[in-house]
Amino acid sequence: MSIFTLHFIKVELVVFLFLAFCVSEKAGGLFAQSNEISVESSPDFTYKIVIDPGHGGTKQEPMEKYGDKYDIFSGKYLEHFKNGGVYKDRTEMEITLELAKELKSILDLTKTKKGFEKFKKYIQLFSDDNVSWVRFDSVLSRKENYSDLGLREDDDKNEKFRLYDFPDSKNGKMKRGRISRINSEKPYLVVSMHINDQKNLRLDPGPGEKIESGMAVVLAPGYKTFNLLKKISDKKAKENEFEKTPWKKWMIFQDGWSRTENAVADAWIYFNGHWPDKTGTKTDLNRFEGYRQNMVTWVYSDKPGWEEQAILNESGPYCKDHKRFSATGKFWEREKGKGEKMRRENGPEEFGGDNHYAGMELLRYAQYGLRKQLKYEKGLDPGIPPITKPYISTYSIPTYINAISAYLELGDIKRNSDMFLLTRRKKETAISLAVGIYSLFRGLHIKKADMPFIPKGKKLGFEKYEKIEGKNYFKEVSKE
Ligand SMILES: [Zn+2]
Repeated sequence: MSIFTLHFIKVELVVFLFLAFCVSEKAGGLFAQSNEISVESSPDFTYKIVIDPGHGGTKQEPMEKYGDKYDIFSGKYLEHFKNGGVYKDRTEMEITLELAKELKSILDLTKTKKGFEKFKKYIQLFSDDNVSWVRFDSVLSRKENYSDLGLREDDDKNEKFRLYDFPDSKNGKMKRGRISRINSEKPYLVVSMHINDQKNLRLDPGPGEKIESGMAVVLAPGYKTFNLLKKISDKKAKENEFEKTPWKKWMIFQDGWSRTENAVADAWIYFNGHWPDKTGTKTDLNRFEGYRQNMVTWVYSDKPGWEEQAILNESGPYCKDHKRFSATGKFWEREKGKGEKMRRENGPEEFGGDNHYAGMELLRYAQYGLRKQLKYEKGLDPGIPPITKPYISTYSIPTYINAISAYLELGDIKRNSDMFLLTRRKKETAISLAVGIYSLFRGLHIKKADMPFIPKGKKLGFEKYEKIEGKNYFKEVSKE
């Protein structure tokens, strides 16, 4: 088909849609816009984005029946549903959902040329660049909270919110969790929004340091780092090889264990699904977190029948014996591949790959955008929390999605000024994040300003993922 024919079809389609619109909306004034309808009226680029306000469900008891991480071996859930921060009448799930909806409504402006003109005005707060039309098709990973659903006492309240696949409580048929649903959208970028709770943060500040909460990104390292931790537990590498990497500020989930001991434990959870003991050398058979790569629906799961193999405890990817474990199979090829290296290791922030850059850049846009809109330069200080060090662990979303993961902690639920910004200045926050998203895809020259956090404005380079060994990384994740 020639280019001319293609254009012709496009014009015809646009005219048809326009006429259909005029027939249904008898607004004469619309004709004034008719000269705008031409082949130029299509965006230069269109990108798919998932906005993921985490949580949404509740810590329903008993955990084995209503939790998350469904274990096919025992037929039970392995952990409580993570319900997120709660303080007084505030809940993380409600605040992030409202902010996510606001962000979507701003990104939705880009769906029409007229809407994009308004979006451009927001960009002008940050940059004098003459930007071209980019369309963002965004999807929310959830649209409600469990409390909005009118559920009865014994209903499964977490059905719509689980991270991992699970059986329907009525008929036992497997249903998709949030991770599988995100992957089936094949997005380029997933923006996860969270609020932390200082009391529950185990950042292990160490002597002389204070616990900081507020804005931070959440990261999972790549294979290289987990493999180093595995080598440490096998005594094939020294602890200080890990401790001199930027990953050393690992999250502490097991009190009384050092950061490195926690990191080694997370490495084994990543590899064979089981916690080790404190020394990292022996599997704790009572602490199973599941073979998570097989708890989501995507192209990297092992073939049906893997469960029978796993029970045998033979040498290979399910082996509980550290010495006989080997990272083999489709998922592990992905983990060692180019896409994961770019997404999770090294990169513009020196570690954490493009995930780290995307998250930090959005937080810098939030910092800059809020200060601009709330008149910081005229001497008003809106009290924006600083960006602190990343939270590092074997986190699920950054690991098990084939998209750039900007996983954001946006504030502390106990700090009134943070909550004011995220609720009463929700629109200003969302505008800042939306412009940050534009910048990740297309880049922006940022206006100079005397402020503590300035976005870099450099585009992330999503194109390099579009042809990894001839395949589009973002699209090959799901067969649908
Ligand atoms: Zn959260």
